[in-house]
Amino acid sequence: MLMFCPTCGNILTAEERKDNFRMVCGSCPYNYIVRKRLSSRLYPKLKEVDDVLGGAKAWENVETTEENCPKCGHPKAYFLQIQTRSADEPMTTFYKCVDCAHRWKE
Ligand SMILES: [Zn+2]
Ligand SMILES: [Zn+2]
Repeated sequence: MLMFCPTCGNILTAEERKDNFRMVCGSCPYNYIVRKRLSSRLYPKLKEVDDVLGGAKAWENVETTEENCPKCGHPKAYFLQIQTRSADEPMTTFYKCVDCAHRWKE
């Protein structure tokens, strides 16, 4: 994400802090505070998703669909739909091969 200084037009650089980012201009005193929530939208925490999918419980009682496994070519896969980011973004569909247990994302 590039942001430009509204006063001199220079590219702002981000300084990460505990609860926010500060966009700072290198050539004038302008700075702008960005709350951290914004940045976590830009960089979703993929690890949390992995934890959800890695749990054995996550794949219990899930339905199967006709989807070809990219690894072994098996035509059926379990599927799960998970809201990985914020509520206003579409669900992400995850698949797990019925045959070889390979997992992939839509
Ligand atoms: Zn500036
Ligand atoms: Zn497979």
